[in-house]
Amino acid sequence: MRKLWIMAILICSGVAIFYSCNRKGKFRIWDSGPTRVGIQPFVNIDPDEVDSVKNAVERMYDFEVVVLEPVDLPEMAYTEIRYPRYRADSLVEWLSHHVPDSVDMVLGLTNKDISITKYKDASRNEIKEPVWQYRDFGIFGLGRINGKACVVSSNRLHKGATQKMFYKRLTRISCHEVGHVLGLRHCPEKKCLMNDANETIKTVDKSTGKLCEKCWNKIH
Ligand SMILES: [Zn+2]
Ligand SMILES: [Zn+2]
Repeated sequence: MRKLWIMAILICSGVAIFYSCNRKGKFRIWDSGPTRVGIQPFVNIDPDEVDSVKNAVERMYDFEVVVLEPVDLPEMAYTEIRYPRYRADSLVEWLSHHVPDSVDMVLGLTNKDISITKYKDASRNEIKEPVWQYRDFGIFGLGRINGKACVVSSNRLHKGATQKMFYKRLTRISCHEVGHVLGLRHCPEKKCLMNDANETIKTVDKSTGKLCEKCWNKIH
């Protein structure tokens, strides 16, 4: 029995060594090929925004990124709790169920405002105070940790921004959400791309736009 275990461990480490040697600089997370990300544009998104996100994700993670056919925002995500907009958690849910076989994960991109409920203590379902504000709270993006999908909205990124700043925000947030899908949680390192935006775009503007060493090591 013990011999069998040792053999199993040896085989596993052999696979791991082959796996890491065979990467050729591309990450492989779910299958034997390089990771493929699908950008799912929702209607009326500016093609330049889609292009900049595609380039940023390719550059940062060295993934293969393809742009999928634009689709309407799903009706099931629409809300009027505070304003007419779309629930980010419902969009991520919807996207997770619409990942084409040709890709490993999907990044939804919209110019509509998106929102979530913010909890004081999610395990006890207690909404953060003031409840009227946090029951439906506008956000920049949302990604499911170790999931299959994330969503980014460009709606709130224009405020006080030059065009250059706008694109910097959009690409940083997109790479941040992809980081969540890859399994990264928020990082305490202030300049790290995975630092929590903490409800203000200033955090995103101050970031280096790069992952800190610890975060890199986690996804490698
Ligand atoms: Zn985050
Ligand atoms: Zn970090």
